[in-house]
Amino acid sequence: MLTSLLVLISCVAPITGAEVKKFDFSDLPPAVKTVRLTDFFTEIQRESAVPIRFLRADLSLANLAGQTSFFPTETIVRYSVTSDVELENLLAHELGHVFLHVKGLSMDVRTSGLNDEFLNAIRDDISSAVEDYLIVKIMLKRGFRPQLVWENLANNLLNPQYIPPNIVAGDGFQRFAGLRLFCVLNQRGLFGNEVTITREQLEKAAIALQPNIVQHERNYQADVGTLDCNDAQSCFVKTKKLRDAVGFPSVTVRNPKTGIFE
Ligand SMILES: [Zn+2]
Repeated sequence: MLTSLLVLISCVAPITGAEVKKFDFSDLPPAVKTVRLTDFFTEIQRESAVPIRFLRADLSLANLAGQTSFFPTETIVRYSVTSDVELENLLAHELGHVFLHVKGLSMDVRTSGLNDEFLNAIRDDISSAVEDYLIVKIMLKRGFRPQLVWENLANNLLNPQYIPPNIVAGDGFQRFAGLRLFCVLNQRGLFGNEVTITREQLEKAAIALQPNIVQHERNYQADVGTLDCNDAQSCFVKTKKLRDAVGFPSVTVRNPKTGIFE
């Protein structure tokens, strides 16, 4: 239950809808397969040791959601159905995760101990914080419109679904919501005036939910600064710093130099 509530205020959320059969890039709708997306996919597939397959899920809760999973024999990109232009950019975002994976820039983040849904959600957000930031940069460079994906995230924060007061009152939830706000505001810094939703609007919405959320976001900002990084080691250091700022020491990050989860 908690997870599904969190998903509602989330960005590129885990897919929970009914799934259809796996298919290949060539089977995507023609309008989605723009030259830039085809080029991006072709480049990544060439460097990937396993085939990249797609899986569509029909979601009733969120209109823009994607999730990429890496398996020994294939990489699966799950996505919810959206408009063609949104889908192109959502797939570019998810392929961005595959791109970072083949370049050795994936953040490997684990939770130790119990398989706890809330901790798993924290883990996923800490893992994707740096990656999503880098993906915005990559997408902008390649002529995609990451603003569309961002606006969807920002709108989810501006119009949060109902969350029971006992959950909102929890320190863990407030830290988690602060993390989401921090990531969205960090990415916003890459768009300048190209997006209309402002920091003030996002903070106001967070304060209406629970004032501590903004305080947490500001603390993360002071501790971590921008999510920018440029190689496996600096991205690891940044991700670990973010984990420390958010708390949750049972969430650990793999040090690419030593292979040890710290
Ligand atoms: Zn992502």
